[in-house]
Amino acid sequence: MQNKISLTHPVFKFISEAAEESGFDTYAVGGFVRDQLLQRDCKDIDFVCVGSGIELAEKAAKKIDPRLNVTVFKNFGTAHFKWNDLDLEFVGARKESYQRDSRKPIVEEGTLQDDQNRRDFTINALAVSLNKNTYGQLIDPFSGVEDLGNKIIRTPLDPDITFSDDPLRMMRAIRFATQLDFVIEKETFESIKRNCERIKIISQERITDELNKIILAKIPSIGFILLEESGLLKIIFPEMQNLKGVENYEGKGHKDNFYHTLQVLDNLTKTSRDLWLRWAAILHDIAKPPTKKFVPGHGWTFHGHEVLGSKWVPSIFRRMKLPMGPEMKFVQKMVFLHLRPIALTKEEITDSALRRLLFEAGDDIENLLMLCEADITTKNREKVKRYLTKFEVVREKLKEVEEKDQLRNFQPPVTGELIMETFGIKPSREIGVIKEEIKEAIIEGKIKNDFNEAFGMMLELGAKLGLKPISE
Ligand code: ATP
Ligand code: MG
Repeated sequence: MQNKISLTHPVFKFISEAAEESGFDTYAVGGFVRDQLLQRDCKDIDFVCVGSGIELAEKAAKKIDPRLNVTVFKNFGTAHFKWNDLDLEFVGARKESYQRDSRKPIVEEGTLQDDQNRRDFTINALAVSLNKNTYGQLIDPFSGVEDLGNKIIRTPLDPDITFSDDPLRMMRAIRFATQLDFVIEKETFESIKRNCERIKIISQERITDELNKIILAKIPSIGFILLEESGLLKIIFPEMQNLKGVENYEGKGHKDNFYHTLQVLDNLTKTSRDLWLRWAAILHDIAKPPTKKFVPGHGWTFHGHEVLGSKWVPSIFRRMKLPMGPEMKFVQKMVFLHLRPIALTKEEITDSALRRLLFEAGDDIENLLMLCEADITTKNREKVKRYLTKFEVVREKLKEVEEKDQLRNFQPPVTGELIMETFGIKPSREIGVIKEEIKEAIIEGKIKNDFNEAFGMMLELGAKLGLKPISE
């Protein structure tokens, strides 16, 4: 790994000049330097100066383009502006200490070294000089470059101090280990185990941000296994912790649903980058523990886990401070429907079963199929192949049925208004009955998804219910 960083982007020259004029020693620090050395793309750059970060930001922005808009956070002594696709953040070097039961730090001005001391990991405590005489030189007081080379996450100071000062760093350690595929150094990890209870003082939003970054990584299971081993999982996500373990009875065990869920999640990352579909994978079997039963002569069953699991989704989302709108509804629907395509591969596929699934899944049918394919976790390659082929058949058949009947975004061919108008009635139970029966008839293939057939059926149903069209 090199110890010089090439600062080719013009932004560095401007900031270097602004620093020189203000008389503040200035450095690019943190994630940008780390990502530069790892040759990862990085659009967020943090600058630390020994002096006023706000003054530096204002000076630099003026030089780059006087029209740039600098946002100042006076209370924090930070300033921020965007330039093209770059996000630039400026802060004066700080010394920080925390009180035991609060995350509110007492902040004082400090040196670059003080500022590096308060960073979370050695690989995040690197600085690169923007000062004239040492331009481009790396300042690496904790051998962060070596840790980058060895793929190690380690705190710069005693980990008990670093984690106790800001317990979110425990989540960050696991998040970086997952994103970068690094190992958390032993002492650092032992300290996370010792301090895991401290995560309780952190706001749910910050915890969930880190969790989502873990979920969006290429191999999210790395993070969940570390969360479990560290003791954090049982605090931040007890339902998931409860998936772990295998029970044996009469010599029969069931699969460990924690590792199964992680494998589904890892499988899914190969076909989808969608955070919410990944959440659906995490939650698809979440209600297996309370629905588990041993049926003599048969084995373990988890009847109704998809129904109960989907019922849990809103409260889990609420607690996790995840969005309660369409994203939550989507996850709920995926959990609820996750067994349906599998059922279709097991039995003779009828058009009405396909229509029913299309009707219920709507536009999310492709996501549902991806989830189900990811749900195949048998180690037997032949079986995997066989199941995947069956899903291909289901996919083909769904396509045929959809082309014929257009049920994906089902709109009732006769509306409640039309029923009321035709029979001259007010809103009533009968309208619901008629609509439901027409929908069922379409799904069962008794009538086509078409206005004329539905209208005819409406008249028949009306007659049975003692209703007469008013125009006759
Ligand atoms: P990413 O942008 O991918 O999330 P990052 O390392 O840039 O990764 P940021 O949250 O942007 O993370 O923070 C920038 C830098 O600020 C970090 O590299 C680290 O030096 C420091 N930092 C951020 N959060 C903390 C924290 N909780 N404790 C200590 N240092 C932190
Ligand atoms: Mg960053």
